[in-house]
Amino acid sequence: MTRSLVGTPALFIPGPTNVPERVRSAIDIPMEDQRAPDLPEFTLPLFADLKKVFKTESGQVFLFPSSGTGGWEAAMTNTLSPGDKVLIASFGQFSHLWVDLCQRQGFDVEVVDVDWGEGVPVERFQEILAADTEHEIKAVLATHNETATGVTSDIAGVRGALDAAGHPAMLFVDGVSSIASIDFRMDEWGVDVAVSGSQKGFMLPAGLAIVCFSQKALKAAGSATSRRCYFDIADMIRTNKDGYFPYTPPMSLIRGLRASVDMLFEEGLENVFARHYRLAEAVRRAVSAWGLSLCATEPKWHSDTVSAIYLPEGVDSGAFVKYAYQQYGISYGVGLSKVAGRVFRIGHLGALNETMILSIIGATELVMRDFDVAFQTGSGVAAAVEYLHESNKNIRDIAA
Ligand SMILES: *Cc1c(COP(=O)(O)O)cnc(C)c1O
Repeated sequence: MTRSLVGTPALFIPGPTNVPERVRSAIDIPMEDQRAPDLPEFTLPLFADLKKVFKTESGQVFLFPSSGTGGWEAAMTNTLSPGDKVLIASFGQFSHLWVDLCQRQGFDVEVVDVDWGEGVPVERFQEILAADTEHEIKAVLATHNETATGVTSDIAGVRGALDAAGHPAMLFVDGVSSIASIDFRMDEWGVDVAVSGSQKGFMLPAGLAIVCFSQKALKAAGSATSRRCYFDIADMIRTNKDGYFPYTPPMSLIRGLRASVDMLFEEGLENVFARHYRLAEAVRRAVSAWGLSLCATEPKWHSDTVSAIYLPEGVDSGAFVKYAYQQYGISYGVGLSKVAGRVFRIGHLGALNETMILSIIGATELVMRDFDVAFQTGSGVAAAVEYLHESNKNIRDIAA
């Protein structure tokens, strides 16, 4: 191991993401009294502002001390009963893990297997929903951004499929690696539960599941008989309404969340989405200039938060990722499960700017050069610089 001991480690995994200095300072505070009389002055406006991040007026946001996986569990156990049927597509490690959680929770899971590199099969879903005339399917589950493959799905399309089939099932969305980075519209898309987590677009350490329930999902909680205790929203509803929590809240993270939401609003959500698009597009231009291809098979699946990149046949992406870490302190996402050894992933979400994205594109060229991957040195950097330069001039058109 010859890695230099100086310089900043380059964290380009798709979560946890870089925590901005302002958020770190907000977290680094003396411990405080979670029953203080003035706490609601802080918590109630935060709950209200979080609704704006989900783009909902009528929904309710809950903060659970857990990673995103706990958010899935909260979504499922609060709204459904054992044996209830759910429809989900599996097309990557995260959608696969959600299937696994549903099975272990005792739901009747109808899984549509889709090739890795594609997303939620909207037309197939519509056929299945139309054929379910008894309305046995209680919830349709969609992974908005599959972090293993860098694939973003069309949630408005899934809503369209439910409506076209006249089906009353609830719509649950895993937005852990999309919300606060890629446009998400809870109310407009008729989403009933949206799950996110602190360590991706929210630019915080791991430790908070940020979950939003629609009125329909809140109502479903009244009759859902799945066993739940820690993740029971009833306890949250009872205490959150006065600005408190049913058990010790991770106040440091919640203070950090306030700073993160402030930063998102100061930049403007639409500008945050446009920035993610531009930086992702710079990576995609570089990948294409290198002569490599993405795991996402078509532009309509391109993710603005993570790119999974195939290395040429014969190059072990696991060894590539390990070498980059040991030699240069670069952390890439590894290839998971079906694409292990084939892809490496560049996470480009959260607190990221042009300088950082050009540094990882340039450093990736160095790693490829060391690894004898055939490509034209400088081609990816050149393509990214040209694109960033041009798109800066047209930033309003791109955001539109
Ligand atoms: C990160 C992630 C999760 C949650 O993982 P945790 O490690 O439990 O936070 C779920 N779904 C997707 C799509 C993710 O990217």
